[in-house]
Amino acid sequence: MLKVIKSLVIVLLLSAIVVPGFGIGPVGYTTDGYKVKTVVIDAGHGGHDPGTVGRSAKEKNVVLKLALELGKRIKEEHPDVKVLYTRSTDKFVDLSDRSAFANRNNADLFISLHCNASPRSKAVKGTETFVMGLHKTDGNLEVAKRENSVILKETNYQQKYKGFDPNSPLAYIMLANYQSAFLTNSLRFAQLVENNFARHRSSRGVKQAGFLVLWRTTMPSVLVEIGFLSSPEEEQYLISEKGNAENAERLLKAFGEYKKAVEIGE
Ligand SMILES: [Zn+2]
Repeated sequence: MLKVIKSLVIVLLLSAIVVPGFGIGPVGYTTDGYKVKTVVIDAGHGGHDPGTVGRSAKEKNVVLKLALELGKRIKEEHPDVKVLYTRSTDKFVDLSDRSAFANRNNADLFISLHCNASPRSKAVKGTETFVMGLHKTDGNLEVAKRENSVILKETNYQQKYKGFDPNSPLAYIMLANYQSAFLTNSLRFAQLVENNFARHRSSRGVKQAGFLVLWRTTMPSVLVEIGFLSSPEEEQYLISEKGNAENAERLLKAFGEYKKAVEIGE
């Protein structure tokens, strides 16, 4: 036990040293003249990584279709906003390349889209939106572990993620401090996403956990689990044209509300 506490302390100290921006405090995104100019939409998985699979649907296809539809709608309604995709085809992209892409393009918001899966019950349904932080429940940790296990399909993942072990609970405690400079606005957008979903579907709320895809992004960032492919009913909804259009509309509304709020400095 003592050993565990000792290594925990070391991890916490280390994370305080290596976190970029740690201690600087919240970034002033509510100052006059700030505009949301660029949004990066990240369709999870791709190529040889299907993500989670339902009876017939693969996560990589469901989220790509939604990403493209959302981007199209944002461009139509907000022609002043630049929309960029980490992938617009069925290809594999490393998690580290996704965040690097957003940073390189000075994105103002990073939206990662994923589908959920429940190992226990086909009845579990609904949306949930994550921001970076320390998980409060085993369920939230499970989601992060599943999404992070993608790195095992990448080459040289040990070097790229500094030896991060997606199955080690300690590794998640270290991740939790990243993104803290952007937490306020990440939470603000996450809440708007879930508020919009809650009007039409069942929302499981805003949650926190350590996701490698959000690890190094230097802007407000969220990971949206748009529904459970393990639920046959929700799978049918997610792969339908109606479901895709409705989900894109909910996310578009959340984006518009977020943009308005941060630009007038509410
Ligand atoms: Zn995923």
